[in-house]
Amino acid sequence: MTPPSTTVAGTGHAVVVGGSMAGLLVARALTGHFDRVTVVERDLLPGGAEPRKGVPQGRQIHALLARGLQGLETMFPGFGRELEAAGAVPMRFPGDVLILGRAGWVDRRAPGWVALSATRPLIEATVLRRLRALSGVTVLDGYEATGLRAPDGGRHVHGVTLRRVHGSDGAHSAEASLVVDAALVVDASGRGSRAPAWLAELGHGSPDATTVDAGMAYAGRLYRMPDDAPTDWKGLMIFGDPVANPRTGYLFPVEGGRLMVGLMGAAGHHPPTDEEGFTAFMRGLRHPLLADTLASADPVSDIRSHRGTSNRRWHLHRMKSWPERFVVLGDAACAFDPVYGQGMTSAVIAAEALDQCLRIQRRSRPDGNLAGVARRFQRLLARRTGEPWRFATSEDLRYPTTTGGRRGLMMRAQHRYLGRLEAATTYDPAVADVYIRALGMLERPTVLLRPRMVAAAVRARRTTAESTPPARMPA
Ligand SMILES: Cc1cc2nc3c(=O)[nH]c(=O)nc-3n(C[C@H](O)[C@H](O)[C@H](O)COP(=O)(O)OP(=O)(O)OC[C@H]3O[C@@H](n4cnc5c(N)ncnc54)[C@H](O)[C@@H]3O)c2cc1C
Repeated sequence: MTPPSTTVAGTGHAVVVGGSMAGLLVARALTGHFDRVTVVERDLLPGGAEPRKGVPQGRQIHALLARGLQGLETMFPGFGRELEAAGAVPMRFPGDVLILGRAGWVDRRAPGWVALSATRPLIEATVLRRLRALSGVTVLDGYEATGLRAPDGGRHVHGVTLRRVHGSDGAHSAEASLVVDAALVVDASGRGSRAPAWLAELGHGSPDATTVDAGMAYAGRLYRMPDDAPTDWKGLMIFGDPVANPRTGYLFPVEGGRLMVGLMGAAGHHPPTDEEGFTAFMRGLRHPLLADTLASADPVSDIRSHRGTSNRRWHLHRMKSWPERFVVLGDAACAFDPVYGQGMTSAVIAAEALDQCLRIQRRSRPDGNLAGVARRFQRLLARRTGEPWRFATSEDLRYPTTTGGRRGLMMRAQHRYLGRLEAATTYDPAVADVYIRALGMLERPTVLLRPRMVAAAVRARRTTAESTPPARMPA
């Protein structure tokens, strides 16, 4: 690779470690600031929408929230059309999706938002295709980043060291190492990121982390869409009750005329991967509709499980010292319990935040000096991930067995308040709409405290949680 000649923003070279959602999206944002952007990915990337080793969660159900789709559309105009052309299924939340919350079925009259439902590999492959079409972008797959290059005592990062882990035929090849210079290095290597160790090696100490773990375990499977599939709804979400029945199940249509099921269980109620256990778990959800819908459907994949879903946040913004020209984002910085579907959307938000920091820097330092950007970005990222973090951890702390975090007075009051609001979402479409928009990250969670919402919570009626799902209202 040709090393960059300069560190000037708008003319240099940026390297992104990790070619999954966070890495690909931040690479897109960096194309507006650097002449060349190289994405380094350990896996050999498949030509199409296939699961791969470095993203094992790709075999599990994924929901792309409205805010995430909106951000992708801005980054890659026409993205939604392209995803839909590849088979993604448009579905309106909650009009087309039956949602059984803790208090009952969410009122389907709420306008909500439209999602595109697809497998995770298809979403990623569509992003990768669009990114590769941009000039100045190189995707270097089959290479693993092994360390940061910071020859001036760790104060400035000047690049990364790489090791080739795959030959072009997919087989492990003889080790070959490479040093790549860069004006900015972004770590987007996911939950297994070595950034904490790298920072310590450079003399910056080790960051602290907070982990809140509900022990959520996943099992997923694909089915052929049955001939007698319901026509009144497209998707189904049955949320568990943290105390009475901590089993959750989602069913979404995906590309290729298939249905994807995701079963999730916390507090030791882990979905089994054998036929009998998987079906029994499905039958044990709070409502029989999911199991009934799949009763005549043919599976087209194995049952795959996934663990390792804790909320984990590295407090990078609080470190006493930080190297220039190095940033960490995506799951590497802050990972969420995926059951709330916030990961990919938070990756979009992180890419937007870095873009914002680099724009501001360019205005104040037209000479292209990047001094201070990395630190400012980590602080901004901590603020932007704060809300999804508080949402996921506070929901997970409803499970009595969740480890980490604190169940303070405020949190218990919040749970009671949300419980009342959720009751109102079952019969008041205006409340349901605000609630669903907040879940889609289109609105900040503070919208749930608007006077109209508070009034609805105060007046909330008692509901019957497991009643019949609502039929679609005439348009
Ligand atoms: C079971 C499960 C279900 C989920 N469901 C949803 C959902 O419904 N909606 C949603 O928005 N999000 C969901 N997520 C979260 C989502 O998958 C992630 O937040 C999203 O992929 C962003 O992650 P990332 O790119 O930061 O890291 P990852 O996706 O983990 O990718 C890291 C990448 O870095 C590469 N890599 C690692 N180390 C190196 C190295 N040293 N050198 C080079 N490359 C390296 C890996 O091979 C991989 O490609 C789910 C997650 C899980 C676990």
